[in-house]
Amino acid sequence: MLVDTHAHIHFDEFTNDLSTLFDNCRAAQVETIITVGTNDTDSRDALNFSINPLVLDKAKGIKIFATVGIHPHDAKLGEDAFLSVKELTQNEDYEKTLVAIGECGLDYCKNFSSQAEQFRMLEWQLELAQECDLPVIFHVRDAWDDFFAIIKKYPKTRGVIHSFTGGLKEVELANALGVYFGMNGIMTFTKDSSQLEAVKLVSQDKLLLETDCPFLTPVPYRGKRNEPSFVSATATFIADLREQQLTDLVSESTNNAKKLFTL
Ligand SMILES: [Zn+2]
Repeated sequence: MLVDTHAHIHFDEFTNDLSTLFDNCRAAQVETIITVGTNDTDSRDALNFSINPLVLDKAKGIKIFATVGIHPHDAKLGEDAFLSVKELTQNEDYEKTLVAIGECGLDYCKNFSSQAEQFRMLEWQLELAQECDLPVIFHVRDAWDDFFAIIKKYPKTRGVIHSFTGGLKEVELANALGVYFGMNGIMTFTKDSSQLEAVKLVSQDKLLLETDCPFLTPVPYRGKRNEPSFVSATATFIADLREQQLTDLVSESTNNAKKLFTL
């Protein structure tokens, strides 16, 4: 059974065909989906989606959890947005469904928010994660030096670098911190061989699978909207790349997800 550790199935893109989406999950043996919040209002949407009885009725047999966080693109929303997210972590209605803080991090590729805004927002969320004793989902693009510097200031942090696209050096640095690696469809179509080499070095007990749907559709579904059932295509690709049995990769990555997120 598979876990999609990073999806956005509460997004509007999925509203009209949720029943089919969950049927496809059952066929692909996806048993759990974590739907990830990207700012204050979206985090509330993620939580509400994950406890919505109409959704749960369609999802029967598939567990849904949610996260709250502010993406580096939205770091410019500032302290009010952060305080709204913090409030969500204190709401008892969401206690059972909330499994992580994030996605949060640093994105110096797009710089939709200033680097100072991103840095401050990440620090607030790292502090919040420690207060709540929750793992963190990180988004990191072109910002490795600052990312590892800030993480070292919060040594109790548990978490995953989602959509990991680092090289060998980043695998080593992340290993030293005990961080997990989230692998998605990018691996199936990247032209960057150093990313593929790095995946081979990720230790088996730190590997997680995800889709980041509706984005980053894996081969052979390129051109379609991504969805949680497609995580199986990434699983097959990564097992081949690492020259291991698919069944081992599936069971171990699922155990890793259960451990990190206490599912
Ligand atoms: Zn995402």
